[in-house]
Amino acid sequence: MRVVVDQDLCGTSGQCVLTLPSTFRQRESDGVAEVCVATVPQALHAAVRLAASQCPVAAIRVIESDAGDDERGSAGPPPTTLEAERHAARDQCHPGGYDGTV
Ligand code: SF4
Repeated sequence: MRVVVDQDLCGTSGQCVLTLPSTFRQRESDGVAEVCVATVPQALHAAVRLAASQCPVAAIRVIESDAGDDERGSAGPPPTTLEAERHAARDQCHPGGYDGTV
């Protein structure tokens, strides 16, 4: 599973970060959410789906297949590989500090 945030839609509520700080973070400059993992570990799949469902503007897209061919979500067009890699390449969120339990 992969997850991406449509940063043009993000309303900076921070709900996703509160739900799953090991996967999402907010940019300090403007509060827009970022994804900080390349792929979502199996143990966090349910929590990521929950975070996506709770986003007030549906900016979180869950891509169930790592190949991206079984997409679910409603945050606009699928991300390009470059976008996904850009998101994934960013710093790790809260390294080692959270077990993903919600
Ligand atoms: S829950 Fe949605 S609107 Fe709020 S910070 Fe996360 S992606 Fe942005």
